[in-house]
Amino acid sequence: MVFNFQFEIEHIVPLAKGGNNKEDNLALSCRSCNLRKGTFTTGIDAITGATVPIFNPRLANWSEHFQILETTGAVAGLTPTGRVTVERLELNNSLQLAARKIWIQLGLFP
Ligand SMILES: [Zn+2]
Repeated sequence: MVFNFQFEIEHIVPLAKGGNNKEDNLALSCRSCNLRKGTFTTGIDAITGATVPIFNPRLANWSEHFQILETTGAVAGLTPTGRVTVERLELNNSLQLAARKIWIQLGLFP
């Protein structure tokens, strides 16, 4: 991937919330997502009003929760978990969209 930071090892359940250092609680994350996730593990879905977990890459299938809109580079959340993850991690902020569009043009993504 064309990126200016190495991926980071992220705690899905933060150590501050009782998470551990075992492999099934760790995920690779880019700097942007890791900063924005912080210690959050849930979010409130704007459509249903439900508090739901942020996407867990160890337990859930990405394509069940998200879709890439290749014309804009945006990530669409398909489920409450998908939507709260898009919001919490700001997956469609202007910098993310600009980078994703270039990756798509270069054939590097999705
Ligand atoms: Zn990211």
